[in-house]
Amino acid sequence: MNEIWLQELREFIAIPSVSADPAHQDDVRRAAEWVRDFVKRAGGEAEVVRQGKGDLVIGDLPASTNGGTAPTVMIYGHFDVQPPAPLELWDSPPFELAERDGWYYARGIADDKGQLFTLLKAAELLRREGALPVNLRVACDGEEEIGGHSIVDFIRDDERGADACIIFDGGMSRADRPEFGLATRGLIGFHLKVRTGERDLHSGYYGGAALNAIHVLVQGLSAVIARNGLLPDQLRIGRQPFSQVEVDSIKRLPTGWELIDEAGATPLDPKAEEEFYDRTWAEPSLDVNGIRGGKPEFVNTTLIVEAEARLTIRLAPGQDLETIAAAAEKLIRRAMPAEAEVELIRENSAPPGVFSPDSPAIQLGLEAFKRVLGVRPLLVRVGGTLPIYPALAAKGIPTIGTGFALRESNVHSPNERLRVEDVDRAVAAASELYRSLAALG
Ligand SMILES: [Zn+2]
Repeated sequence: MNEIWLQELREFIAIPSVSADPAHQDDVRRAAEWVRDFVKRAGGEAEVVRQGKGDLVIGDLPASTNGGTAPTVMIYGHFDVQPPAPLELWDSPPFELAERDGWYYARGIADDKGQLFTLLKAAELLRREGALPVNLRVACDGEEEIGGHSIVDFIRDDERGADACIIFDGGMSRADRPEFGLATRGLIGFHLKVRTGERDLHSGYYGGAALNAIHVLVQGLSAVIARNGLLPDQLRIGRQPFSQVEVDSIKRLPTGWELIDEAGATPLDPKAEEEFYDRTWAEPSLDVNGIRGGKPEFVNTTLIVEAEARLTIRLAPGQDLETIAAAAEKLIRRAMPAEAEVELIRENSAPPGVFSPDSPAIQLGLEAFKRVLGVRPLLVRVGGTLPIYPALAAKGIPTIGTGFALRESNVHSPNERLRVEDVDRAVAAASELYRSLAALG
């Protein structure tokens, strides 16, 4: 990376665009303006668009020649970042780009400002040479880290579309093997509230005769949590099994044993390690994320009449959000006594997203990466939920979702980092992607 690039990246990183903190709202806007100005300097058009509560940067960088017939490629990244706290765990200030031992350190360097920078830089360089062969549409997000849906609304309402989309906001399990994420899991959140009486009671007088809300809550939750490692069949309907390419990719990834051990976690059941990727990529899962009731901090003998829990289901690729939400609701309600007062509120949700590995854009992308990095990327899934994936899939826009963060990049943690060499590799890969996607025309 040369001095000018470094200076630009340093300037972008220095804007503390923490979307979760209202005190940094202006900084998120400044980061948006930084992206807008970059696109304009590169010879394009762009503006900061207020959509709902968030800022998007929407713009165009036209192909150097043949703009009328060249294919259109959307590039997506987000310019907001996670809060840097706890600050005392950082070895250098989070918003000052630092270089140590072959790594760049800063909040956002891997997730995602540093990676977004490489997509923009590659576009600018090609423009400057008069060699950008595709029309680029820039769609950047300022509320990715707070689960905002401005970008999803934008894609849903957008009529121009694109022939492909490129997202550099991910990583790879091993530095020598890039990965394209072809599918994401969906998400449904529930807030479960139980009431069984007007006030807490003496368990000596009423215990054994009156309903305890905590027991009711536990009965409801027991009906949906995994048994022998799997959710009830009603919650597994529609899931799409792995293709042969995916099975082959998984053989080259870290094993479930390594991943569970490294996380200091306990396997869910005896098969969980062996079936790690099935469980997290091809099966739905359910987690109770919080539970409240009674007074566990004190010795007491109370019969509790109020309890609540929050739970989320990760939907497997292929599953229908409404079908699974309805099935979960039925299982939970059926397991609880009808006399209890139960509120089951649906909260945030996003469907799973799936792209076909056979689409020409993804095939061209694989070849482009291989030319630059010397190795064909693995085709994998993502266990998490990225609402932009199903939004793009619904519009029929094949998406190359990839990136250069590593497991040791400390994403969302103190000392976030990206390897110095990967900035150059990412710019070269982005550039080759733009060139190769010209064949979609
Ligand atoms: Zn990100």
